[in-house]
Amino acid sequence: MRVYLAKNLREANRNNAADNRKILREHGVLMVNMMGSPGCGKTSLLEETLKRLSPRYRLAVIEGDLYTTEDAQRLSPWTQKIVQINTEGDCHLEANYIGHLLAQNPHALLDAEILFIENIGNLICPAEFDLGEDIGVTLLSVTEGNDKIRKYPLAFKETQATIITKVDLLEHVDFNLDQATFDLKNLNEQAVIFPLSAKTGEGVDKWCEWLEHQLEKKK
Ligand code: MG
Ligand code: ZN
Repeated sequence: MRVYLAKNLREANRNNAADNRKILREHGVLMVNMMGSPGCGKTSLLEETLKRLSPRYRLAVIEGDLYTTEDAQRLSPWTQKIVQINTEGDCHLEANYIGHLLAQNPHALLDAEILFIENIGNLICPAEFDLGEDIGVTLLSVTEGNDKIRKYPLAFKETQATIITKVDLLEHVDFNLDQATFDLKNLNEQAVIFPLSAKTGEGVDKWCEWLEHQLEKKK
């Protein structure tokens, strides 16, 4: 009988992530890993982000979903550089998947200035797997409730930015933005917080400006 420890497999993931990071640095690509529950608004925010940034930057997307290419199709008006990965059940992406996609699609992915990854809709394990990204972003919609920050702390702790989505619905739900800010800062003092609405556009420019600033810092 052989026994494998999950922590050793995660070690392999760390090495793969380091390889990705090296390749991305060589090509000057800023990689942004976007995580959050199904329905939190990852694709909607990507649509608004690509709409604003695509006139000025070369953008690419790795779109992660269990099934379908629906989200990739939603983003296709804004960039041709989209690679869909269907995991057919896997609930997160791992660094070796990304490494494989970079190797197979260098013209689409490594020619970009910003490469967005829409991770599988899941607030739990995507945060356990470093993909080699420069920036990790966690999205939480106001409809999900304040408790999610405290119940699923890892993603909020490990990422540089938290985006509170669907703030246009704040008056209809029991979500307290001040409480969310307090809980987030408690977990991650450095985290930048962007309350926004992809639907009304409120706050989206601020997020995009921050991304541009991250790109300038990397150059
Ligand atoms: Mg999506
Ligand atoms: Zn998973």
